Amino acid sequence: MASLAPHNHDHRKLAGSALVTAARATMLAAGEQWTDMRAAVFNVLAGLDAPASAYAITDAVSTALDRRIAANSIYRILDLFVANNVALRVESANAYLVNAHPECLHDCLFLVCDGCGKATHVDDEAISTQIRATAAAAGFRAERPVIEVRGRCAACCA
Ligand SMILES: [Zn+2]
Ligand SMILES: [Zn+2]
Ligand SMILES: [Zn+2]
Repeated sequence: MASLAPHNHDHRKLAGSALVTAARATMLAAGEQWTDMRAAVFNVLAGLDAPASAYAITDAVSTALDRRIAANSIYRILDLFVANNVALRVESANAYLVNAHPECLHDCLFLVCDGCGKATHVDDEAISTQIRATAAAAGFRAERPVIEVRGRCAACCA
């Protein structure tokens, strides 16, 4: 995947069938296939209300397809999805979620709730630009900043 510089624009955050269509188009544009298995994995990701482990995703895909899917197959698809910007990985939770903006690349920021496990995906170019500048000033080439904030979501605080 080409590494794009952080950028400012009004990007679309997609959901439902528009998101599936955009994710599929992103994969095809990258020369990747959109197989039935990949579609099934994406549908599971799109249906999550909190990031899920590869193990949990394997279970959900197996249930959806009504046959046991090897975890390795799911890991490979998840890696491929992350590499192609259609899924995101929450490092501190070792979990995956769908990327609502498969059409553009950002240093996505996650607010991860320790109460319910939900992760709010936000984009803040000012923060990621500053992090990249700080890294560059230290002579470090930032390829993939990981910006995750642990805490409690509004629902869990209420
Ligand atoms: Zn964007
Ligand atoms: Zn983002
Ligand atoms: Zn919460």
